[in-house]
Amino acid sequence: MSEYILIGVAWPYANGSLHLGQIAGAYLPADIFARYHRLKGNRVLMVSGSDQHGTPITLRAEQENKPPQDIVAKHHQEFLDCWQKLGISWDLFTTTGTPNHARVAHDMFLSLLEKGYIYKDSVPQAYCPECQRFLPDRYVEGTCPYCHSPQARGDQCDECGRTLNPSDLLDLRCRLCSAAPRFEVSEHFFLRLSAFEDRLKAWITEQTHWRQNVLNFSLGILEGGLKDRAITRDIEWGVTVPQPGFERKRIYVWFEAVIGYLSASKEWAISQGDAAAWQPFWGNEAKSYYFIGKDNIPFHSLIWPAMLMGYGGLNLPYDVPANEFLTVEGKKLSTSRNWAVWLPDYLERYDPDPLRYLLSINMPETADTDFSWREFLRRNNDELVATYGNLAHRVLTFTQRNFAGVLPACGELDSQSQALLHKAETALDSVDRLLCGCHFRESVRTAMSLAQEGNRYLDDKAPWKTIKDDSQAAGTAVYVALSVLSTLKTILCPFLPFSSQKLHDFLGFGGEIEAVGWRAQSPVSGQKLPTPQPLFDKLDESIVAEETSRLGSGESDGSQ
Ligand SMILES: [Zn+2]
Ligand SMILES: [Zn+2]
Repeated sequence: MSEYILIGVAWPYANGSLHLGQIAGAYLPADIFARYHRLKGNRVLMVSGSDQHGTPITLRAEQENKPPQDIVAKHHQEFLDCWQKLGISWDLFTTTGTPNHARVAHDMFLSLLEKGYIYKDSVPQAYCPECQRFLPDRYVEGTCPYCHSPQARGDQCDECGRTLNPSDLLDLRCRLCSAAPRFEVSEHFFLRLSAFEDRLKAWITEQTHWRQNVLNFSLGILEGGLKDRAITRDIEWGVTVPQPGFERKRIYVWFEAVIGYLSASKEWAISQGDAAAWQPFWGNEAKSYYFIGKDNIPFHSLIWPAMLMGYGGLNLPYDVPANEFLTVEGKKLSTSRNWAVWLPDYLERYDPDPLRYLLSINMPETADTDFSWREFLRRNNDELVATYGNLAHRVLTFTQRNFAGVLPACGELDSQSQALLHKAETALDSVDRLLCGCHFRESVRTAMSLAQEGNRYLDDKAPWKTIKDDSQAAGTAVYVALSVLSTLKTILCPFLPFSSQKLHDFLGFGGEIEAVGWRAQSPVSGQKLPTPQPLFDKLDESIVAEETSRLGSGESDGSQ
């Protein structure tokens, strides 16, 4: 029976280019998961969009002396271009700037207000006497009261991941002019998070299938107690506050952006010509997964669930498979110091699948992992080209030369051939289970070891020798190897969609690989195969020096 799978993915701020840390953290695992479930025949809705509000955008706009909308439009278009080239298969990638989003955000705001989960209060706000303005969270910097990092922002500390209020910070300074802000009273709305503490605790304790890091982090925050949080602020860029007297204030981006999962689902439904089509993805029967980086955990494991509990009638997250961070060449990624690999640069120079492969086999699922160009080269040349690609290329070219390109018949299978075919079946089943539980590294490792087995089998059978006096034995060995390849193209399809489609074509199957589903497709004896091309290109050693020399130098492409 087919399931409804909702996949929500973190909303990137449209203020800079995407980098590999974001891809490894959220977008690639989400896409693999979506592709896998579509192959399984499940109904998938994968949504996200550009986060176009908030201070990351206004700060960038002020730096470049442009209207915020210009910054947003430029980067949103770049995102769309990157998704297409990298093969991130959204059902909808929208923005938080649509009238639909504002409507859905207002509806949630008003519903929570009516139920008493949102209340009004007068609070001191950071005000910079030099700049003569109220300072939104990200315009305030200082020392984190928990870990004492000196670079904490008014909304969050990147070092320890705690969410903060500007008044929590020690040694406050204005980000624009470095003057010390003072606090002046301003009226704002607050989300009564404290009212959800017990319910959240009970709910999270039941989520034993969550990753340990996500569970521990969330329970740790709950132990410390949940504080009510301001959901409006003194800024004029963002979703309006649907209450009189608040015309010059806007809804806080952290409150409004998570509502994007719901508004995007509704927008998608309308685009399908069935305005109610979003509902089964948010009902009890559905499972919803939120793919995010670890810095986003509290918003998805506590705050968004609290909002959903308060609103009522919508499904809570089934899983929040947050990833840890990706370092680059052994150092913490830093967009401001340009210590990052930018996705548009990568896609300009290389194919998408080698990156998808490296980030999958080295995904920061349970601990931080490192990206290096040396490893990129090695994994491409030794694993994609020399192991998987080589298995495909040697069998396919052998078939061309010795069987006139016609897929040979399968004779009687000896125990070695049976054992290999059994391994292929087992691999398909175990990756099925692994992907279901969001274990991406282990899945792709399982596939690669099957490719190694395939190569060993071919070396043992040596059809290039047996072809001389036992062409049936050679044909059987070729048939078995092609069967293994056929399983591999399915297992690897969520990870390497471009090369899987190529292999699907070279094996003589017509149409889109997705249409076949999650199963081993048997090669058809007697089928004429097209002339094969290598699945992957070998890369030159020189790219390592070239690429590493770009790191940390020149202009930064982003300010996320
Ligand atoms: Zn901290
Ligand atoms: Zn200032």
